[in-house]
Amino acid sequence: MTPSQSIRHMERSGIREIFDLANTIPDAIHLEMGEPNFDTPAHVVQAAATAASNGYTKYTPNAGIPELRVAIARKVTERNGLTSSPDQVIVTPGAIAALYGTLLALCDPGDEVLLPDPAWPNYRMIAALQGLGVGTYPLLSEDGRFDLEAFERSITAKSKVVIVNSPTNPTGTMLDEQSIKALVEIADARGLWVISDEVYDEIVFDRDVAPSIAALGSSDNVVSVYSFSKTYAMTGWRVGYAVAPPDLVSYVVKTQEPITACVNAPAQMAAVAALEGPQTCVTEMRDAYRERRDRVVELLADAGVPHLRPTATFYVWVDVSASGLSGQDFARRLLADHHVAVTPGGAFGRAGTNHVRVSLASAPDDLYRGVKSLAAAIIDR
Ligand code: PLP
Repeated sequence: MTPSQSIRHMERSGIREIFDLANTIPDAIHLEMGEPNFDTPAHVVQAAATAASNGYTKYTPNAGIPELRVAIARKVTERNGLTSSPDQVIVTPGAIAALYGTLLALCDPGDEVLLPDPAWPNYRMIAALQGLGVGTYPLLSEDGRFDLEAFERSITAKSKVVIVNSPTNPTGTMLDEQSIKALVEIADARGLWVISDEVYDEIVFDRDVAPSIAALGSSDNVVSVYSFSKTYAMTGWRVGYAVAPPDLVSYVVKTQEPITACVNAPAQMAAVAALEGPQTCVTEMRDAYRERRDRVVELLADAGVPHLRPTATFYVWVDVSASGLSGQDFARRLLADHHVAVTPGGAFGRAGTNHVRVSLASAPDDLYRGVKSLAAAIIDR
């Protein structure tokens, strides 16, 4: 058979590749996936069970159930400072579907999307499936400074959308507010839409919540994308959302009709419970990630391994150049010799060639053991 060109051209995520390889090693320590090791909070699980027993088992409106859209509008207004009405909210099967639907609503095949380098690989996969060209702009490091001139240079006549992801997977950093404002202004002036992927908005270590790019940019060309996956340890429930300017909403909603119709109804009720219930679970998980961040950074610093100190997310971006290997070869060697799986930085773009990404979302004992092996593997070479 001959599959479509788009599916043939779509490369699989390098995260999954190493995950599949690690799954062939029974005692492998998994530090490659962004999968919280916490259970979904019990009151959230209970809300879904109750909803299913009470008949929330049918199709819902494409944009999501009204009570969830209301709860989300309240959340982004109160917590993210992004004043929004429920009509601007589109509930999607994970943030990934919000990104997919928004790009589909904004772009035609041949248009170009600008991605940060490094960036979460799925952006590229979506672009491949939708026949979009990809341009990249460099993302800067720990101090959050951002090279605006390089960003501006990356814009071409075909550019339609720029994806921004702060807090950033894989670097664990955040863009500073001045850079965000300037980026949105440039995008506005050049007629670009901004899709701001803020799925790590509440996993930040030095403040309560990451700044909303749409709120800071005060612009009507920004779509904000969020998720329940990371904040509430709900990766498998598949609930995310976009908050879009009013005239775009109906088009993004329309993309859901033929693809997913809606998010499953009990999961939407679980999401309402997550937002409206106690938020101590969020704080507890964030505190745990912060503690792991501190310990991992200490281990790496003691071993003299260069890395970025994450201010958000649950990822540590580690420079493995001292091993004399590329991130790809280092990750394979670490898995084969020490049974520790980390993601090769090259999976996130050219800027990651000499890096690997370590996930803090794994159980602490595994994490610390894995990081010690990683540090030893760099130093021993
Ligand atoms: N955006 C980024 C930057 C991510 O890292 C991830 C998941 O790892 C997602 C989006 C996907 O989130 P969801 O599970 O809501 O689809």
